[in-house]
Amino acid sequence: MSRLRRYNLWVVLAVIVLLSLLPLPAFWVAQLNYTGLFALTCLGLVLLTGVAGLTSFGQAAFVGIGAYTAAWCSLNLGWPPTVTLILGVTLTGVSAWVIGRITLRLSGHYLPLATIAWGLSLYYLMGNLEALGKYDGLIGLNSLTLFGHEIGQGRGFFVVSWSLLWVATVALTFLLNSRPGRAIRALKDGRQMAEAMGVDTFGYKVTIFVIAAVLASVAGWLMAYYQRAVNPSAFGLKWGIEYLFMVVVGGAGSLWGAWLGAGVVRVLDEQLQAWLPQLLGMSGSFESIVFGVMLVLILKYRPDGLWSWVQQGLGKTERTRDWDDADVLTQRTKPAMGDVVLDVQKIRKSFGGLVAVNDISFQVRAGQIVGLIGPNGAGKSTTFNLITGTLPLSAGEVYFGGQPVHGLHARDIAKRGLMRTFQHVKMIPEMSVLDNVAIGAHSRSKGEVFSAILRRNRGEEKSIMAEAERQLKRVGLGDWIHEQAANLPMGQQRLMEIARALCADPTLLLLDEPAAGLRYLEKQELMRVLRQLQSEGMSILLVEHDMDLVMDVCETIVVMEFGTYLTQGTPDEVQADPKVRAAYLGTEH
Ligand code: ADP
Ligand code: MG
Repeated sequence: MSRLRRYNLWVVLAVIVLLSLLPLPAFWVAQLNYTGLFALTCLGLVLLTGVAGLTSFGQAAFVGIGAYTAAWCSLNLGWPPTVTLILGVTLTGVSAWVIGRITLRLSGHYLPLATIAWGLSLYYLMGNLEALGKYDGLIGLNSLTLFGHEIGQGRGFFVVSWSLLWVATVALTFLLNSRPGRAIRALKDGRQMAEAMGVDTFGYKVTIFVIAAVLASVAGWLMAYYQRAVNPSAFGLKWGIEYLFMVVVGGAGSLWGAWLGAGVVRVLDEQLQAWLPQLLGMSGSFESIVFGVMLVLILKYRPDGLWSWVQQGLGKTERTRDWDDADVLTQRTKPAMGDVVLDVQKIRKSFGGLVAVNDISFQVRAGQIVGLIGPNGAGKSTTFNLITGTLPLSAGEVYFGGQPVHGLHARDIAKRGLMRTFQHVKMIPEMSVLDNVAIGAHSRSKGEVFSAILRRNRGEEKSIMAEAERQLKRVGLGDWIHEQAANLPMGQQRLMEIARALCADPTLLLLDEPAAGLRYLEKQELMRVLRQLQSEGMSILLVEHDMDLVMDVCETIVVMEFGTYLTQGTPDEVQADPKVRAAYLGTEH
């Protein structure tokens, strides 16, 4: 993580301490307290919605589980706050896990709809249970105390809630800058890529859903003791939308967006409620109208939220280079030169009536570069998708290193050392080149969420960064490591994809049209990299349209046409073959 970002965290803590010492009026302390509670809930939403692209309207319901657990257990059983916290978090975690496993496979609009549905049902459950006081809720909780000191109201509560908020922000910052964090950031737009790098994307979706729910539950626990009462209206769909609103206003892409959004919405809400009726000379919830207009304007002119302004002012942060003393990641044992690495036997893929890949068979041996060519639509990319498990086979078998891999998930095939690039570059555009390439090392490392949050992953992180940098230098991108990936020209993006695949220490590399869209000099650079990999003994299966490149680097070439195997041979044999000429020229000789 960058030094600047770490330094920001300390500045924020200092501001919190300062605020707690200032003689602020009670009204403003109350605003800060609510801001802290809301921001804690919004932090999880940033992770879920902003970072991972999973829109949830159900966050308020998790706040409710935390709040009701605290209220019911302390009123009926007399349990202390520590115990109700642990119980609330456990209950929330388990329910989020169950709901997540059921709903997170839903795609598109179905997921947000599902979160609305269960947010509503939980609201009506709370409102209808006699034991929970129906729509009146539960009242009469004691305030929080610590060693006999009252900390449940005013400034004491500010210190408690904002400390928790700060700790949660620090933990999530650590998380997002780690091995699991990079996988989480790939969930929004890069799921197929992440799976091809060995990432269990569904597992991470469930994990962050649980984390977000637990943060909301802690906020609910705090809220119950602060208000000394709970009732369902604070946990219904209206609040589910409200939290999402705060995140969008503040900036869904950044953890600080949660802080800013919660604060701005809370303060504006109070002020507008006080002033608008006076100004207009009639009573009513006019603030809702203002918020509606505000949301539309922000979505139109500042879709990244208000925090993006602050971010512009702060400037770019770079990861501090601290990995010179890193241990080298473990390497795979490679097959001996000439051994069969990949054995493809009669693989077939039908899309409805179209047979895109029709009983294709070929082999790749260790140290070989094999070309797979054919006119557009011949089925080359589909063949790649079948070999790598990205698409399920209709028939046929694939053996990798002598082991059957047909029927396995893409991520499990990737873990065995079969790595690929994509015909259309797949990356996390807003992440640095270095972080993008580091995803390639996912299957060679094991640090998970807890080790990231507790910073037990530092050694492994250094090793991953060192490896990513080494691979970037290997493909000639050593000067670009801190650049944002989206800013790279096409040629460099393709090289970055190759570096990412190399980061996994692959036994076999599958490259899908690496020269497509490259300019002359970029192509020369790619050729240099391929020749270098060849001299290092890397096994490669290469799909490419640029014949000069294919003929130059490949030892064997397999030709396909309309999904069917045409021929194979050395570059000279293939070039001389009338069938191949006909396929490319579209004429029979
Ligand atoms: P190539 O990479 O050789 O240009 P592809 O493998 O992309 O060819 O496509 C082979 C054929 O399969 C094409 O006719 C294409 O339209 C079809 N195809 C590819 N993917 C799908 C899909 N997901 N659904 C339906 N048809 C597909
Ligand atoms: Mg293709």
